[in-house]
Amino acid sequence: MNRSAIVLFAVATCLTACSAPKRYRNPSPNHIAIVRVWVEQNKNLPPDLVISGCEMWKDKGVQCVLVPHKDQGSVRVVPALRTCARSPNGVTTLAYANPGGEISVVIDCFTNDKNVLDRTMFRSVLGHEIGHQFGIWNHVPQKCEKGVAVCGDALMNPHYEEKIDFITPADSLAFDARELKWAVITNDGEKSRFNAPQNHEVKGCVYTRVEPAPKFPHPFFFIK
Ligand SMILES: [Zn+2]
Repeated sequence: MNRSAIVLFAVATCLTACSAPKRYRNPSPNHIAIVRVWVEQNKNLPPDLVISGCEMWKDKGVQCVLVPHKDQGSVRVVPALRTCARSPNGVTTLAYANPGGEISVVIDCFTNDKNVLDRTMFRSVLGHEIGHQFGIWNHVPQKCEKGVAVCGDALMNPHYEEKIDFITPADSLAFDARELKWAVITNDGEKSRFNAPQNHEVKGCVYTRVEPAPKFPHPFFFIK
């Protein structure tokens, strides 16, 4: 391989690998807690996918189980029954999380016109919102700027990204630094703790997807 071929090979390899977010892996995490999750009955809130989203955090030592009654759940997932609306600047709100365990999902944003659920997006959005309930109440900035301790590609970035359907090293750090006061799980045992703050010291999450406005086709397409 000559020198320019090596450079080209390195660039091509980097284009595929360097830009991809890294997955956080921990084959033997210390068990922290069992998280009890209640899901309101709704055909577009599949409980197995909620649990799968929650278990994106299993390498941090959490286990997620479904519970049949709302008052048994430290995390409670409900539908936000409204139309999925994209603002003129391309921002769509997908879900909300509030300290104390409640997550509401704008289910209309997850189904297409044939009422088929986008399972990948649903699972990741639930993983993100449940991450807040673990006490990660600040989003992880994607850009690393001076003075920012935890940053980079993360499930806990402020906007949904299809390619991040797992937790990353930045998510792991954010989890380690989470605010236990506002978390539905503690570090001291298996029992999850229902924690309903009476005031609003912590801002909840409004999780959005940002898509640029559709552009006109490239002029090239009009040339015959
Ligand atoms: Zn969020």
